[in-house]
Amino acid sequence: MEREVVNVDLGDRSYDILIGPNLVPNAGALIKPFLKRNHVVIITDENVARLHLATLEKGLIAQGISSAALKLPAGEATKSWEMLQKTTEWLLSEKVERDDIVIAFGGGVIGDLAGFAAAIMRRGVRFVQIPTSLLAQVDSSVGGKTGINSPHGKNLVGAFYQPQMVLADVEVLGTLKPRDFLAGYGEVIKYGMLGDLKFFTWLEENGPAMAAGDMEKRIYAVKRSCQMKADIVARDEKEHGDRALLNLGHTFCHALEAATGYSDRLLHGEGVAIGCALAFETSMRLGLCAQEAPSRVRAHLKNMNMKVDLSDIEGELPDADALIKLMSQDKKVQNGKLAFIMARSIGDSFVDRNVDLTVVKSVLEDALSLRQ
Ligand code: NAD
Repeated sequence: MEREVVNVDLGDRSYDILIGPNLVPNAGALIKPFLKRNHVVIITDENVARLHLATLEKGLIAQGISSAALKLPAGEATKSWEMLQKTTEWLLSEKVERDDIVIAFGGGVIGDLAGFAAAIMRRGVRFVQIPTSLLAQVDSSVGGKTGINSPHGKNLVGAFYQPQMVLADVEVLGTLKPRDFLAGYGEVIKYGMLGDLKFFTWLEENGPAMAAGDMEKRIYAVKRSCQMKADIVARDEKEHGDRALLNLGHTFCHALEAATGYSDRLLHGEGVAIGCALAFETSMRLGLCAQEAPSRVRAHLKNMNMKVDLSDIEGELPDADALIKLMSQDKKVQNGKLAFIMARSIGDSFVDRNVDLTVVKSVLEDALSLRQ
């Protein structure tokens, strides 16, 4: 199997994303050129540590690189002030220097937290992302958004801070729970839906084999997703324009995540998938896209055994007005106006700041009524 490389072109902050098998065992050799001394610190979570930390450490030792690791609890609750403090104090106690490399080794939670800790440590210590979940490989490890959650909402405290390199080892995806894999797949199809009909069609044909473990297909899907994200980030790093397209489905998703308390009731990628289905439904009702588009989106999600409807979320949900209120906490609100990513068709999306909220409300009301 070939190793693929995608470059994120950001001038003197450009970096490579390596995608392939065997990258965790070889991380020592790949990181070595970046080191000023033969020592690194690793931030990871308890699940990833149990399954993959020994392999990473072995590869580092083979290159004469010593390491220390901080193992944090797994889960969204770790993206908190408390864990940020714990991480930064630990980095200081490890005497991490400005020229050192911090390795973020885990899913999106660890990548976001460790990246933010690296950004604020000594006003910026370099870091390398080794994403271990599908979601982190195709999305959160690329593009430099780092941060934590606040009691006021998700990802509200953070920084843009780019890594030195990203190592996406598709083999480590083999230990993900199927539910976590499919949550990541929600972000993969998002790329097809927002800007590449050909990729969406490829996923319709190859998604099931990819989920079942086909490595070549996993490499292709991660590469295509990273390419699309890298292109958008290179055009608009700080989200003044095009980068907002990556938020397809996210305005709905963030409201649903808040309504379910950022808990296991709804994983982020599951919320993205449901949010995309709702965004296409809204686009259709606004007369922006044909009826066929939301039907095709839903059919593929169902074929992948993913959550599609609000009725797939267990437990109570608030009413449509309350969900719309939760959307207004979104970072994309400008002058009180909500930004939605709407679609003209699968593969053709745009930012719309003038969506009629009565239509959004009717979409949510109909979706909620199916739960009874
Ligand atoms: P996560 O980090 O919680 O990982 C999901 C679960 O999978 C965890 O239990 C973790 O321990 C486990 N895990 C990770 N890798 C594994 C492996 N190889 N084998 C077995 N288990 C493994 O969540 P996630 O879905 O990776 O990421 C979600 C987070 O990413 C959210 O906080 C979201 O806000 C953030 N995010 C950030 C960006 C960004 O641009 N920074 C983009 C999208 C999402």
